[in-house]
Amino acid sequence: MPVYKMYIDGKWIGADETFETINPTTEKIIAKFPKGKDKHVKMAVGAAEDAYKKWSETPPPTRGRLLQNIADLLRKDKQRLGRLVSTEMGKVLPEALGDVQEAIDVFEYMAGEGRRLFGHTTTSELRNKFSMTIRMPVGIMGLISPWNFPIAIPAWKIAPALVCGNTVVFKPSSDTPLCAYELVKILEKAGVPPGVVNFVTGSASDVGEAIVKHPKIHGLSFTGSKFTGEWIVKNAGLKKVGLELGGKNPIIVMDDADLSLAVDGILWGAFGTAGQRCTAASRVIVHKKVKEKLLAALVQRTKKLRLGNPLLKTTDVGPLINKKAQEKTARYVEIGKKEGAKMLCGGKKAFGRGFFHQPTIFTSVTNDMHIAQEEIFGPILSVLEFDRLDDAIEMANDIEYGLSSSIYTKDVSNGFRAVQKIEAGLTYINSSTIGSEVHLPFGGIKGTGHTREAGITGIDEFSYLKTVYVDYSGKLQKAQID
Ligand code: NAP
Repeated sequence: MPVYKMYIDGKWIGADETFETINPTTEKIIAKFPKGKDKHVKMAVGAAEDAYKKWSETPPPTRGRLLQNIADLLRKDKQRLGRLVSTEMGKVLPEALGDVQEAIDVFEYMAGEGRRLFGHTTTSELRNKFSMTIRMPVGIMGLISPWNFPIAIPAWKIAPALVCGNTVVFKPSSDTPLCAYELVKILEKAGVPPGVVNFVTGSASDVGEAIVKHPKIHGLSFTGSKFTGEWIVKNAGLKKVGLELGGKNPIIVMDDADLSLAVDGILWGAFGTAGQRCTAASRVIVHKKVKEKLLAALVQRTKKLRLGNPLLKTTDVGPLINKKAQEKTARYVEIGKKEGAKMLCGGKKAFGRGFFHQPTIFTSVTNDMHIAQEEIFGPILSVLEFDRLDDAIEMANDIEYGLSSSIYTKDVSNGFRAVQKIEAGLTYINSSTIGSEVHLPFGGIKGTGHTREAGITGIDEFSYLKTVYVDYSGKLQKAQID
């Protein structure tokens, strides 16, 4: 059994104890990783502190070139990394390759930022005075990532953190340390200097909490559950904190919608990645005039989805990440039945081996039910019905989260009404709730957190703006007074 290492100050190091990473399809152990402790976080922060001066003073275009090297190496290794994502995380190969592609895209996009990192110039109320803003790195940043995009999400954080001149302590999810390890290997190969990126594996309580509380870490970027996000906010002190949390994303289907297009989008949104996306479409809110027709097509297509090994072309839906996730999904099936929702298909854990669960559809769901309100993070879809668009929007908004949303309609007025009234960070028209691109802002509102990673706003999360005044009048000038 291979035992991998952590990466601190440019050296690969182990720990006294290890933990295992498991293939969710076979339930077999793939590898062992060091169980990092508080002392490893301290070493990593020390290394990040030592590397900071040189790295933050490296010209941004040089930092950008390094990011381009990383993108190039990722591209060369895309197929192998994609297969690894499928093996360790369980998403089907085309999606796993998409995960790697997203990492390539974000390194490439952020490489270009090395020649921008724009501040702005503006006027002054006084004569012979010049005003502008410039971008500064936050300092040492703690990056904590989940397992569902095991290469893309770390990349979404590392790329902007580095181009802005920060040094980094990175803790991956304990479910997917091998994907993260391979990414860090590529960073090393691309020439990231020692101490600039430090990789510490281990549990949330030993490594994650030590990062959150470390006084010399200036900023945190966290993607994960709302529960953990709330804990972080209470324990991070005065650090700059970015939070990308959960979702319970609705698709509204109007009576004028192209139903076949809507079915394609719902299947992709609800059962892609076995429902394990923060942007998964876990609620469909359908006009009652077209509900039966939509459901008939949806159920027929859902029943045909083939569960299995995510590496095989014949597989549509892979396993859930672990046993706990499989049991949680099964528990929500029971909750849905008890609440009086009607199950139209699925409902069972599948196969003997592997953490599979059948894609499941509930109808007769009302918005007060647990299955309509809580993030299940599995292949369960709740279908609600409405009469008037305003009611559908009210249902869409009556939820603690606010990440993604979608409406299917041929009427441009309905589309724009939804855009204006749905409380969410993303709204799609005639497309599913998933499909973000790295050059646009990504994030939510309400219980999803208010961070905007990716795109130009991703830079804001990993830098701060310094305001600079240059007075060349040669005399004391007083703003607001002279
Ligand atoms: P999670 O349990 O919150 O864990 C996420 C990461 O945080 C893991 O690395 C975990 O470490 C670590 N962690 C847990 N508790 C911590 C603590 N007290 N202090 C510091 N670190 C801690 O979430 P998950 O199950 O991995 O991911 C699924 C969730 O992520 C879902 O809610 C999903 O919606 C959300 N998500 C959101 C986005 C977005 O962009 N909005 C994207 C993807 C996923 P261990 O693995 O060692 O426990």
